[in-house]
Amino acid sequence: MAALDQPKLAAARLWATARLPYLASAVFACPIRAEPGLGTISVDRGWRLHADPALVEALEVEQLGRLLVHLCGHLIRDHADRAVRLGVAAAGEGRRARWNRCADAEINDDLTVSGCVPDVAPDLPGDLGCDDGKLAERYLEHASDGPRRWDCGSGADGCERPGDGLPAIGPGQRELLRLGVAAEIQRYAAQHPGTVPGGWLRWAESVLPSRIDWRRVLAAEVRSAVAAVSGMVDYSYRRPSRRAHASPDVVLPTLQRPVPEVAIVCDTSGSMHDRLLARALAEVEGVLTKAGLRGGQVRVLAVDTAVQAAKRVSRASQVTLAGGGGTDMGAGIEAAAALRPRPRVVIVLTDGFTPWPARPPRGVRVIVGLLAQGGLVPMWEPPRWARTVTIDE
Ligand SMILES: [Zn+2]
Repeated sequence: MAALDQPKLAAARLWATARLPYLASAVFACPIRAEPGLGTISVDRGWRLHADPALVEALEVEQLGRLLVHLCGHLIRDHADRAVRLGVAAAGEGRRARWNRCADAEINDDLTVSGCVPDVAPDLPGDLGCDDGKLAERYLEHASDGPRRWDCGSGADGCERPGDGLPAIGPGQRELLRLGVAAEIQRYAAQHPGTVPGGWLRWAESVLPSRIDWRRVLAAEVRSAVAAVSGMVDYSYRRPSRRAHASPDVVLPTLQRPVPEVAIVCDTSGSMHDRLLARALAEVEGVLTKAGLRGGQVRVLAVDTAVQAAKRVSRASQVTLAGGGGTDMGAGIEAAAALRPRPRVVIVLTDGFTPWPARPPRGVRVIVGLLAQGGLVPMWEPPRWARTVTIDE
């Protein structure tokens, strides 16, 4: 038979995402192409599933569901590009088959807990004479020989097959899907401690390091600025509250003096990436709340060439990102400094495609959150008198 049993595949997708919800966006992203006579169900480098209708017919819904999870594992973990980097994709069938088994083992040892190891591609690290929890590259060095159990396609070994065709999903979109899955894994793990296997967690951490970094750096910058201008000691010589020893189990507030006014200047010019800006704003809000600033103390200015709005907000979601022309953050900083009461800390969120004033407004500490977009280099470097934190996806 030549047609795919679509309801069965839909049921298999649901089966898969019910067990591993954090993989849902990837499991549902891949389009499926029927390929009678293919002899396998596989994925290609461009995230398309190729399915032999006869095999879809032969496998149970659960078996298909396990296989879908497994194949998405190859895509999410970027086994194709990793195989290309190692020279495996261009090597002979023997080496590619060996890589396929090693990549299978890397995925499968994280699927045993949820009962998702596919019956048709069951290799585990132990089957290769290796320990659990390693990467395919490591297994490739130490694996014992054996036949390829299942051809998982070019999405696993990077070697293009005749039926691959154009990518179903472009490289940029694939990267976004990976980041989305990584974020889902971290969120799910936080909500359901102990349920996400270590391999998935380590992978998620490995693809999201910059996000964690800039949050930490931004938080440190904001806290240090707030502490410095509110008359607290310098950050380099900061001591815990003297009363802390009296109640060791209670965390006493470090900011005991009135906290300073903070203004956020948002670049809303056409060059800005709305989603990234919204995310950065939400992050800043979180940082300020932790630093002891409540709503009403933070004002947000939407700025392109002119100041569109200055609004006192308690949540980043209340901000309307008006604007969309050219950019001049100097105007924004000036407007922020002119607010009454005067802010002591100004946080500028911008992509950097803006001229900057030569000097900061007097008595105002400026932090620049530089929103990096696809490796574009801004024409003007952020000024040295400001602390700059690069924010990326
Ligand atoms: Zn596989």
